[in-house]
Amino acid sequence: MDFKIVAEYFDRLEKISSRIQLTNLLSELFLKTDKQHVDKIIYIIQGKLWPDFLGMPELGIGERFIIKAVEAATGISESSIDKRLNEVGDLGEVVAELKGKVDSKSLSTFLGINQNSLTVEMVYDTLTRIATMTGERSRDLKIKLLTGLIKQSSPLEAKYIVRFVEGKLRVGIGDSTIIDAMALAYTGEQQNSEIIERAYNLRADLGTIAKILVKDGIEAIKNVKPEPGIPIRPMLAERLSEPSEIITKVNGRALVDYKYDGERGQIHRREGKTFIYSRRLENISSQYPDVVEYINKSVKANNFIIEGEIVAIDPESQEMRPFQELMHRKRKNDIHSAVKEYPVKVFLFDLMFLNDEDYTVKGQLERRKALEGIVEQNENVTIANSVIVSNVTELERFFYQAINEGAEGVMVKSISEDSKYQAGARGWQWIKLKRDYRNEMADTLDLVAVGAFYGRGKRGGIYSSVLAAAYNPHKDVFEALCKVASGFSEDDLAELQKRILQWRRENKHPRVESKLEPDIWLEPAVLMEIRGAELTLSLNHPCCSDVFKKDVGLSVRFPRFIRWRDDKSPEDATTTDEIIEMYNNSRMEIKSESSEEAT
Ligand code: ATP
Repeated sequence: MDFKIVAEYFDRLEKISSRIQLTNLLSELFLKTDKQHVDKIIYIIQGKLWPDFLGMPELGIGERFIIKAVEAATGISESSIDKRLNEVGDLGEVVAELKGKVDSKSLSTFLGINQNSLTVEMVYDTLTRIATMTGERSRDLKIKLLTGLIKQSSPLEAKYIVRFVEGKLRVGIGDSTIIDAMALAYTGEQQNSEIIERAYNLRADLGTIAKILVKDGIEAIKNVKPEPGIPIRPMLAERLSEPSEIITKVNGRALVDYKYDGERGQIHRREGKTFIYSRRLENISSQYPDVVEYINKSVKANNFIIEGEIVAIDPESQEMRPFQELMHRKRKNDIHSAVKEYPVKVFLFDLMFLNDEDYTVKGQLERRKALEGIVEQNENVTIANSVIVSNVTELERFFYQAINEGAEGVMVKSISEDSKYQAGARGWQWIKLKRDYRNEMADTLDLVAVGAFYGRGKRGGIYSSVLAAAYNPHKDVFEALCKVASGFSEDDLAELQKRILQWRRENKHPRVESKLEPDIWLEPAVLMEIRGAELTLSLNHPCCSDVFKKDVGLSVRFPRFIRWRDDKSPEDATTTDEIIEMYNNSRMEIKSESSEEAT
């Protein structure tokens, strides 16, 4: 299949601003794709060469080296490329422009000879060689290979190859658009996207799912089960701050776990090997050799998928340490000294697959029982501390006990008939109850940075505030919610400038909705955790517009930056549904406070 077709579709996709058009056009591209290469096309659209969980190397070519390859391919000097890049801001655009100029002067163009013969396989294979090449001279060889690709490509192809290598494809397509387009192209009905999504939730590899769909049809997709070695998209919790509401939501009885403050780990064993995947489904096994060893010793089964929280532990007192401690551990280069300096413990809380059997379809208590059946608990691995509660007093008592012992709160888990493991979904089967923050919102929000504003006064000349958006999964768009201007330390501001440089774009991204016009638009790529005083109705932001009042949205009062959340992807941002729920809850609290005052 010619890469030219892909580049032309990318060009058309980039100019589209409606989600429906994106889906239709993408499904057209799928219909033109050779069946055996559908997985490659999907990974390329996702901006990858393979799914993250394989733990394979990334492309790893910095901007400077790409510029060197462009220089070698076009004969245009590095300084001229730099100059143009400063004016245009997008290396992909610059390459297309320069390549166009050079090609128009070439002899083959003059003679009408079509040099352009790049296929998807050639591009994919060369990029794979670039990514996997190691050793002393690998950097030079990588530049050489990229130079060859640029030389052989048309200006439009070069634009997307360079953007891909930079990690900024910018065609504006998320997983749910890909799934809708797959359903449309290969089954004729977009409704089937639900079936595809279920399979994707259980096996987080869209390329493989597409291959199954193309080869064996939608019935085969219905039968997809989890498989050790391929991560499951994690089940997520809703949040409430009122224990009585929680008890009502879970129909009076629930399993309640300590909520540990660490890193979520999905642990797989397959053919004698143990793998750990992060919440973002990246392979983090090499960061936790100690956890791999602990699990190998204490989990008595050969074929499983289980889940737990990896928590930093004080080596002296054995008390739990906060999440930040794990981040210190990650920053250390030498993993062996990191393991010694920052010991961890694993608190297991779920089991999704055991001995060839899919446990995601079983109830919460059956899963917990099976987990208890295979774990020999010791000082390094235990099962989450839990009780079954059937009233508010019991829930509150356990909650305070959890806080006293250094947990963040509790996770309340439904034990009803249908308390299945809902992969990839945030639902009321799990509800988090965290420490109460007086005068503040009950929880922090994870918002996507979609634009930035220049500072004034002391912060003049640099970007000092960020337009932040929540994710609307129904429309697959990011809706601006607030402008975050405080909470940034000097280091955070320096980091902010770097991220803006990396993700800036000429115009608003098609999946972003905003009423404000920032000084610079950003690719919706990075998440920030923020805390605010409260949610309020707002005319300035489109988030949750028309839900409470016509043409009025919601916003956050006094939003404060807490930290970057690189462990989450844009679609993991706090959703508009969660924000609506939080706003409803805060209104209920105000009502009950004023009725208490009245009595
Ligand atoms: P989320 O994962 O819901 O998007 P988050 O990453 O901001 O949110 P929190 O809101 O603090 O984290 O809580 C959810 C996380 O709590 C889970 O992803 C999991 O890592 C962690 N956790 C700790 N203890 C448990 C437990 N017993 N059961 C389930 N999750 C737990």
